[in-house]
Amino acid sequence: MSGTARIVENAVCLGCGCACDDITVVVDGGRITEARNACPLGLRWFGDGSLPGAVLGGRTTAIEDVVGEIADALRAARAPLVYLAPDLTSEAQRAAVAIADQLHAFVDGVTSATASAGILAAQRRGRAGATLGEIRNRADVLVFWAVDPVLSYPRFQSRYAPDPAGVHVPNGRADRTVIAVDVGSQRGPDDADVRIQMTAEEESLFVASLRGYLAGRTLGGGPILARVTELASRLTRAKYAVIVTDGESAPQAVELPAMRADSLIALTQSLNAPTRAALCTLRAGGNRNGADTVLTWQTGFPMAVDFSRGAPRYAPEDATLSRLARGAFDAVLLIGATSALPPSVAGALRGIRTIAIGPRASESAVDASIRIDTGVASIHESGMAFRTDDVPLPLRAVLPTPRDTASLLKALGAAIAAKGGAA
Ligand code: SF4
Repeated sequence: MSGTARIVENAVCLGCGCACDDITVVVDGGRITEARNACPLGLRWFGDGSLPGAVLGGRTTAIEDVVGEIADALRAARAPLVYLAPDLTSEAQRAAVAIADQLHAFVDGVTSATASAGILAAQRRGRAGATLGEIRNRADVLVFWAVDPVLSYPRFQSRYAPDPAGVHVPNGRADRTVIAVDVGSQRGPDDADVRIQMTAEEESLFVASLRGYLAGRTLGGGPILARVTELASRLTRAKYAVIVTDGESAPQAVELPAMRADSLIALTQSLNAPTRAALCTLRAGGNRNGADTVLTWQTGFPMAVDFSRGAPRYAPEDATLSRLARGAFDAVLLIGATSALPPSVAGALRGIRTIAIGPRASESAVDASIRIDTGVASIHESGMAFRTDDVPLPLRAVLPTPRDTASLLKALGAAIAAKGGAA
């Protein structure tokens, strides 16, 4: 570390939904040289913090003129899409939703393509959830249902559960029972105390049988009965059981079965008769929960919001991917890190006039006619982000941003308003 190095304490990593806020970042020579406490995934997410700062594709590179040009292009569109990619502050997400409202556009984010099943199931059934702090302090039985956090949420176990001591589990790991439920090739943690295995085809019947058992129904025999009774007896003896599952069918993950979110919500609710229980749904990084939260507080809905009739209308059954497939949009304002777009969305943008605003937009593989580089939330941009449990965290930038996304979007919104809103 040189004499000019600067240390930023309590930086927030948005490498996954855990949003660890205990990262000590060392900045030396305008680059991140260390991110202490970050896991390998977090180290990759921080990188060295270097970013391009280009404005490409406009008639000029003067940002005021390009903003006016984008405003004209979006106003002229018949059916624009405003799409929220990851790595945005919630301030930027909010400014983007306001633009969608002005344009009478369709606004959506990666959630509709990667995590909608769990959100829709929670809207149908409600959900018994908990903050990660509550899980850390109370959970004495943890069921990792077809998810091994080591792979995609690497510090979940050391920061939240089962490893740390909590108010009601003072001996940490020794006070907790960890149960791995393996569903086909989707395995729980290797070091679990108990392992219950089933095929992907058995999962639905297994959960239904478990709920039936908890409700006091007599089950017939069959190959899953012993496993059902074993899991039921461990769960009902818990003081506070938590079922941890993956909410993301992220590009790198195996596709999640559509019924799982529904089944696990129902199972957790059933467990709240004999004991206390919560469902913990893990989400990927880049402030994805923030996009859902901002959309909800601005429009009433967490994704797939259609402003084309002037007022927000919820259209999760006809979200971005299905609309792109039938050519429903003639312009796209793509905001955020295009490298984190679901490949299906990135591919479907081809041939549509796209304006990309976000970190490394100038280098993006997405075919965008105008590209403006901005910063990454929490590395270059301060503001707010939401953890996987929807707890808000303040972000403190550790490096200067090439261009602040929220400010740029507000300027774009002002330019659209000055020209009279949607054409
Ligand atoms: S667990 Fe997630 S949030 Fe925490 S340091 Fe690793 S990638 Fe970052």
